[in-house]
Amino acid sequence: MNTPRRPSVPAVPPVVLASTFTFDDTEGEALAASQRDDYLYSRWSNPTVAALEARLAALEGAERAIATGSGMAAVSLALLAASRWGGPVLMQDEVYGGTHELAETVLRGLGLDLVRVPLDGLVDAARALPEGATVYLEVPTNPTLRVPDLPAVAAAAPADALVVVDATFATPVLLRPLAHGAHLVVHSATKYLAGHHDVLAGVVAGGGPVMEEVWRLRKLLGPVLDPDAAYRVWRGLETLELRVLRQSETCAELARRLAGHPAVARVHHPGLPGHPDHARAARLLAGAGGVLSFEVAAGDEAAARVANALERFHRAPSLGGTRSLVSWPAGVSHIGLTADERARSGVSGRLLRLAFGLEPVEPLWADLEQALGRAAAAG
Ligand code: PLP
Repeated sequence: MNTPRRPSVPAVPPVVLASTFTFDDTEGEALAASQRDDYLYSRWSNPTVAALEARLAALEGAERAIATGSGMAAVSLALLAASRWGGPVLMQDEVYGGTHELAETVLRGLGLDLVRVPLDGLVDAARALPEGATVYLEVPTNPTLRVPDLPAVAAAAPADALVVVDATFATPVLLRPLAHGAHLVVHSATKYLAGHHDVLAGVVAGGGPVMEEVWRLRKLLGPVLDPDAAYRVWRGLETLELRVLRQSETCAELARRLAGHPAVARVHHPGLPGHPDHARAARLLAGAGGVLSFEVAAGDEAAARVANALERFHRAPSLGGTRSLVSWPAGVSHIGLTADERARSGVSGRLLRLAFGLEPVEPLWADLEQALGRAAAAG
C-alpha cells in the first residue's frame, strides 16, 4: 500500500558548507544571479547564514538582518552604507576602541567627514546636523557603561539622517534600538549572541535601501560569515535570554558589593543609583547588562595586581560568554587611543572591566575579595 509521506523538517538549520550552488542550465544560473535571495554563491547568500539572519531580524524587530564575519565587519558595513559618503557622521567619543580606530584612522583617512562629541553633547550636535547625516551611538558604551539618550538623539537629528546603534552590550533582550528611533542596529555577535567564546561574528539589522547597500557592500568587500560559524551563533540564540538575564543578575549583585568595598574608588554600572545615566538606563533598557567596570582606589599598578590575582576570572579581552572575564581596557580594548582620547572616554589605567559568565555569584565574589585584599596588602 502506498501511504502518503508526511513532510518533516530538521529541528535545527542544516549547515550548508557549499561555496557555490549548481544549476541545470545557464538560464537558471542567470535567474539566481538576478535575485538577491536565491542561492548562487555563498558570498551573496547561504541557507545556514540566511536561517541565522531571519532569526536575528525577528529578534530586532527588523525587516532584514545581514550577518558578517566579525563585529568590526558589521560596524564597517553599517558606517559605510549609512554615511553614503555624503553628509557628516556624528559619533560619540565613548565607543569601543576598534570602532574609534576604524573611524579615526581608516574612514577619516578615506575622506569621511567625522564629527566626534562627548556623549552628553549628542542631542545638541544632532540638532545642528545637515540633511544626509549619520549618527553613530553605542548603547551602553564599552567599558564605562554610559547610556546615550537614543530617543532624544534620534528626534533631534534631521528627518533623513540615519541613526546607527551598536547594541552589543545590551543585546535584543535588553534593548531593541529600532523601536527607539534607530535605523540600523549592529552587534558583535561574538559576544552575547553567540555566547560561548567559540566564534567571531557580527550582524547589521534594519530595513529599506540602506540594508540593500549593507548587503551589496558585504558582497563586494567580502566579510561574509562562515556557515559553520553561523550555525554556532544560531545555537547560541537558543539560550540568549536565559544567559543575559542570569549574567545581568550576577553583575547587578556584584556591582552593589564592589561599590561598598574599601579598595574600590568607583563602580561603573548603569544599575547603580550613582551612575550618571541611571535614570535613562532604567527607562531605555530592560536590565543593566552583564558588564561592569570599576576603578581600583590605590591606582594603576594596584589595578594590574588585582587583575593578576584573580583566579576565577579569566584575563581575556571579550565579554558575553559563559565564563567570567577580566580585562584592562587602557592596555587592551582601548590601546589604539592616545592618552588624551582615553581620558576623554573615561578609560583610566586603574579601570578594570568585568564581564560576567554563568558561574554562581559567591565564588566570583570570594575571588574578587581575595584579589582586592591581596593587591591592597602588596601595595
Ligand atoms: N562593538 C563593541 C561594542 C565591541 O565591544 C566589540 C568588540 O569587543 C566590537 C564591536 C567588535 O566586535 P568583534 O570583536 O566581533 O569584531
